[in-house]
Amino acid sequence: MPMLKKMRTGRKRKLGLTALLTGLVTLVVVLTSTILLVASYQSKKESLIETTLHLNYSNASRMSQTVDSLFRSMQASLKYSANEFSDVEAMQANEIDDNLELMRNSSNYFNSIALINADGLILNTAPESVGMAGQYISSKKGKEALQKQLPYLSKAATVPGTGRLILFMSEPVFNPEGLYLGVVGGTLYLHENNVLNMIIGNSAIDDSGSYYFIVGSDGHLLFHPDKARIGEDISSNPVVQRLLRGYSGQQQVFTIKGVPMLAGYASVPTNGWGVVVVSPTHIIQEQLLSHLKKVLWYTAIPFFCLFFGVIILARRLARPFVYLADLVNKLGKEKVELSEIKPHWNREADLLNRAVLLALRDVQSEKDQLTQEAMTDILTGLMNRRKLEQKMKEWIEEKIPFSLITMDVDKFKFVNDTYGHLAGDEVLKQVAGIITASVRPDDICSRYGGEEFIILLSRTRAVDAYIVAERIRQTLEKSDVPTAMRVTVSQGIAHFPSHAKSREELLHRADRALYSAKHQGRNKTIIAD
Ligand code: GH3
Ligand code: MG
Ligand code: MG
Repeated sequence: MPMLKKMRTGRKRKLGLTALLTGLVTLVVVLTSTILLVASYQSKKESLIETTLHLNYSNASRMSQTVDSLFRSMQASLKYSANEFSDVEAMQANEIDDNLELMRNSSNYFNSIALINADGLILNTAPESVGMAGQYISSKKGKEALQKQLPYLSKAATVPGTGRLILFMSEPVFNPEGLYLGVVGGTLYLHENNVLNMIIGNSAIDDSGSYYFIVGSDGHLLFHPDKARIGEDISSNPVVQRLLRGYSGQQQVFTIKGVPMLAGYASVPTNGWGVVVVSPTHIIQEQLLSHLKKVLWYTAIPFFCLFFGVIILARRLARPFVYLADLVNKLGKEKVELSEIKPHWNREADLLNRAVLLALRDVQSEKDQLTQEAMTDILTGLMNRRKLEQKMKEWIEEKIPFSLITMDVDKFKFVNDTYGHLAGDEVLKQVAGIITASVRPDDICSRYGGEEFIILLSRTRAVDAYIVAERIRQTLEKSDVPTAMRVTVSQGIAHFPSHAKSREELLHRADRALYSAKHQGRNKTIIAD
């Protein structure tokens, strides 16, 4: 029972070969293009990341060299001043001021310069407006530097009085006898225009969103395009941690705000600072998107051509199979019109098409022959009783008026008995020939059985049928037959619809007329009354 159910539900709508191939091609094309796009996207992404990282690294290296040589020049300039101030004890205050002012203006390295004695007292400043002259250095580190009597570079620090974020570097001053006199120091105001933002300034941010920043050896920002961030401690940043350990390189990082970045970084050898160039990863997404658009643009037309080409090919391939399947499906249901055998470029399609069409042709011609045989009387070649009755039925249904002549050979038993059955057959054939020759081509002649014939004459009145019947009777009467005796016939005529409305009734009426003719002595034609 479940099996039966399965079989029934199994006869669902089936998928056509053309639809199947079209679907398959679509699937393959869509999958292939997806794979292609994904692969192209991935490889382009990797190469873009690699290129950007490398570019950022080389920019950071170049900038670190620039910063390095700048720092050396700044040190050299301070050293030169320290030398100039070796005889500071002999100098007038205004002479010192002039010297400091000259030094500040000639190089422009520092926002301000100061001369500090060995006790930490600020003797002179340039510009004077700094207003620190006469005060002692307050910071602990500054005092330490003073005591060490060595070149010094401070971390970024806020000056208590002014609130300024500064960097301070200094060189010791000795008199010609080698006595330590103090330091000459330069200050960078990190939030204001200074030498660092002067050299990086223009290239701080480019159109793509990449930018530079510089961290000090303590991980605090010395330069950043966002001024508000200068001084911020970013030592937790993995790139900064590597820089503080003296490494240079490139890597993907996240900013403190969690934005993914591609960073190239290089440390500055002389002062332990680090230069970092970062590009937001989203610039790569934009480049990737435009790359994908380009790929799509270049591949769209070839892909569409390929797609439609393959679809056309698939449909052509499917066509003979579809035609044959439809043909076989129609067999036995309706009249099948067999087409010419056309060669097909596909071997299997060609062979199958040929084989099926040839087989169907054979079957059809055999069927035609059998049909013909089933409708024909073998002896005379006339229609047989079955076909005649079918014709009568058709004409009655279509209400075509017609006359029916029923004809019986007289004393035929005697012919058979006297001359033999074969001679009798010959007589029957001759009668058939005479009947056919005496009627119009579209009249219907049949052997109804034994020695009885029936003729249907379409659109013919009984009186006109009578004339035809008489012509046959007279021709037969006069004709030479293979037997020595004369062959005659008796005939009865009935008309549809004037004598009868049904086939049985019509045959009955004609039969009665025929028997009347027999009774009246045979070799006669009688119309039903
Ligand atoms: P009637 O004039 O009354 O028609 O006399 P009849 O002898 O023709 O009538 P009956 O029906 O007695 O005889 C018909 C004969 O026709 C009998 C049968 O042997 C013969 N017959 C029927 N079919 C064939 C046939 O195919 N070939 C031959 N040779 N004879 C046939
Ligand atoms: Mg008979
Ligand atoms: Mg007879």
